[in-house]
Amino acid sequence: MRAVTRRERRRAAPADDRPRECCGLFGIWGHPDAARHTYFGLYALQHRGQEAAGIAASDGQLVRLHKGPGLVSQVFADRTTLDRLPGAAAIGHNRYSTTGTSIARNAQPILIEYKRGQLAAAHNGNLVNSADLRRAMEDEGSIFQTTSDSEVVLHLVARSRAAGLPEAIAESLERVVGAYSFLFLSPEMLVAARDPFGWRPLCLGRLEGATVVASESCALDIIGAEYVRSLDPGEVLIVDADGERSVHLPAAPRQASCIFEFIYFARPDSRIFGEKADKIRRAFGRRLAEEAPADSDIVIAVPDSANTAALGYAEAAGLRFEIGLIRNHYVGRTFISPYQHERDIDVRVKFNPVAGVLKGRRVVVVEDSIVRGTTLRKLIGLVRSAGAAEVHVRVSSPPIRCPCFYGIDMSTREELIASRCEVEAIRAHIGADSLRYLSVEGMLSVVPDPRAMCTACFTGDYPTAVPEDFHKGQFDRSRRTGAESKSC
Ligand code: SF4
Repeated sequence: MRAVTRRERRRAAPADDRPRECCGLFGIWGHPDAARHTYFGLYALQHRGQEAAGIAASDGQLVRLHKGPGLVSQVFADRTTLDRLPGAAAIGHNRYSTTGTSIARNAQPILIEYKRGQLAAAHNGNLVNSADLRRAMEDEGSIFQTTSDSEVVLHLVARSRAAGLPEAIAESLERVVGAYSFLFLSPEMLVAARDPFGWRPLCLGRLEGATVVASESCALDIIGAEYVRSLDPGEVLIVDADGERSVHLPAAPRQASCIFEFIYFARPDSRIFGEKADKIRRAFGRRLAEEAPADSDIVIAVPDSANTAALGYAEAAGLRFEIGLIRNHYVGRTFISPYQHERDIDVRVKFNPVAGVLKGRRVVVVEDSIVRGTTLRKLIGLVRSAGAAEVHVRVSSPPIRCPCFYGIDMSTREELIASRCEVEAIRAHIGADSLRYLSVEGMLSVVPDPRAMCTACFTGDYPTAVPEDFHKGQFDRSRRTGAESKSC
């Protein structure tokens, strides 16, 4: 199958130019229905990746794997597939690629055979130094099966001379820089790890004595597991026949949990980083209303991700929250318009305005973030076509000015409208009567520990050095084209 490029993928999803998440993880140890629970856990985490899905399961002797491109429901459409994944331990992965091309062989978990036996791995995040490590290993003769950065860690584990698997994993993770939550599964052991900066979420749960780990707590809820806690940054949790124990990687200079998880990525009904996403998201909306009031009649959200922030905005502003846009939930990310010429049909397929709500009204439209602004411009056109008298856009995050190197496909710098345009120019581009963003200070005032958050895409304050050639195109293209001077 020919690889689909990132550019093609964006073109294939014109009605959604939001940042894309970078994968969901689920793991379980000590339950006879391990693969089946993992299947449901992946279902709950489908929003974190729709390109590919996979489950590796261990019966104590052998790790078996099934994975492929598509949604969980597509990859496991054959009901007998889960029967072929027996055992009391399993790990699962939903993929949205951020490094490596989008090809079937990059689906995860990745399963290898090496000197210690079998090892499966699943990864959420981006390793900033993976290209350097890979180049060095390839120079020494290593052969890689995928183009994914995750495979680099498996090579490091396979090369390690450490006494046991947990030690080999910890030693390998100490050599990588960047964002990761990892799950590893051998026939006898499950290992879950979070990077020392704590970029990506990973929580621990319990189900009938079994250990469960997941990117978000909504995956625990779906199988009736109890939420226990968030794994600590740098924690490596080892689960085997002897029970659970944790070791810790050397501490990072600071914690840098991704604040975008609260803004957009995580499901509002999830706990991430130990906090309820819904509570934080609603507070973003309330703070936005204090900072950026609008003389309006009603508040609507760009569904579904801005719903919670819009409720917070309406509450603080004393305005009525209305459902002014209906989202068609059956339109997948692979929707491609058959029209070659520029039309709004793509956004109309996905959203429909409610004329009875909007006609003659001064409307506040709450959006969680603006990447390129193309979708929002079309949405505002829809709201106006339904008869809205005024459209005031309020964004529950600050302007995104810098690309993300830690696992979020946040476009290139040249494609980030706020990296090259002032707010007034963006307002004119999207066709709103007014546009205001939440301030960085306002955003940080809402989270429990602002110093523990990564805000690099808003502030450019990257928690690590970013190698010069990392995602070379992202920086170089903006330099070559002089993107800073491009018009909106
Ligand atoms: S740069 Fe932005 S999206 Fe990336 S990890 Fe930091 S806060 Fe999250």
